[in-house]
Amino acid sequence: MEQSVSEWLRRDSERLWHPYSSLTEPSPVRLVRGASGVRLRLDDGAGGTVEAIDAMSSWWCMIHGYRNPVLDAAVKRQVDDFSHVMFGGLTHEPAIRLAERLVEISPAPLRHVFFCDSGSVSVEVAIKLALQYQVARGNSGRTRMLTVRGGYHGDTFAPMSVCDPVNGMHSLFTGALKEQVFGPQPPAGFERPDDDPEFAAWAAAITGLAERQADQIAGIIVEPVLQGAGGMYPYSPACLRVLRDLADRHGFLLILDEIATGFGRTGTLFASEHAGVDPDILCIGKALTGGYLSMAATLCTTEVAHTVSDGPGGALMHGPTFMANPLACAVALASIDLLLSQDWAARVARISAGLSAGLAPAASLPGVKDVRVLGAVGVVQLGGPVDMKRMTEAVLRRGVWVRPFRDLVYTMPPYVCTDEEIAAIGAAITGAV
Ligand code: PLP
Repeated sequence: MEQSVSEWLRRDSERLWHPYSSLTEPSPVRLVRGASGVRLRLDDGAGGTVEAIDAMSSWWCMIHGYRNPVLDAAVKRQVDDFSHVMFGGLTHEPAIRLAERLVEISPAPLRHVFFCDSGSVSVEVAIKLALQYQVARGNSGRTRMLTVRGGYHGDTFAPMSVCDPVNGMHSLFTGALKEQVFGPQPPAGFERPDDDPEFAAWAAAITGLAERQADQIAGIIVEPVLQGAGGMYPYSPACLRVLRDLADRHGFLLILDEIATGFGRTGTLFASEHAGVDPDILCIGKALTGGYLSMAATLCTTEVAHTVSDGPGGALMHGPTFMANPLACAVALASIDLLLSQDWAARVARISAGLSAGLAPAASLPGVKDVRVLGAVGVVQLGGPVDMKRMTEAVLRRGVWVRPFRDLVYTMPPYVCTDEEIAAIGAAITGAV
């Protein structure tokens, strides 16, 4: 017998955790009744359904939209072959092909790929690689990571330790986290001349910190050019050049976390390209499979891979059960091929222009602190905390799904949105604000 929406929601609230939620004060959820193209079909809270453009790409993932025929077919083909095998002692074509494809498209020095099942785990692996690399080079005192304030790298323990320590998200765990080295947040704004005094002050501060603690630092980890869940905060590519230089001078490894920014989101295939900087280690996830399956990867240079492999212990001691899941590999390959078969850069540029035009009127509204757009990411920052429920509903009434947090209402739409859909997203957010 068909159950009512309210019955499903009651059962949900009795049994389920949702992201960043409490079971005693659950935040409201909507029941998904289907999804196709860029639209979600959701319960409307009154016994019917409502369609909404998914302006979040389900948290940066669904770049080609839902029920994409090419990606659907790739998963189905692989299901008909085999869905999963252990990766210890076994290998398969989808994993080999995907690893080769990733090496081909990612920054040049990256040659080796470790597959895992979430972004957080790919950051764990990156940090492990950096520590093991330093041990292999006789630097076993180098056990800390240098990072900047305002970052977000995931919710497991090593990533939590390099997230912003005071923005509240993980502050409860502070005592249990490895103490890392935090430099100041880069000055705000993607467009900044290299002789800008704020940039110079930031560069001097982080350089001083690195010099003073060099003998303790294994690597540097940052989200290149755009900090995501720490505040949707773009910064100048010149900062990455400073970090690359520090890494080279002091023997740190540069880890770039492109889990959110990878696969074109900021206008280049990888955000590091804005700076002309190559990392030693790269973390990717989210849009890797076009959002179809849970998969992430850590890529590294031959120097890193061989130093670790030739060092004490030899092996990299990590091996997730679902490592290189064949369904995920197959759909990731299809997603990358689909992306690169189109003029994706032109599409992202059009989305950028559309979001800039659509969100610009919000800048003059009372209570709005800032409006910013970088690539296919648009942000309205309010003067204080946003009422998440009210704002979500107000945007949804205008036909768009968003998930505001802190003082931010933001969008990173699927690349397959039409110009009209991008305009509708801008108008819905501006209207609701
Ligand atoms: N790093 C960045 C930059 C992210 O944006 C995220 C997720 O939002 C993560 C790491 C963690 O990824 P996951 O949620 O897949 O563990």
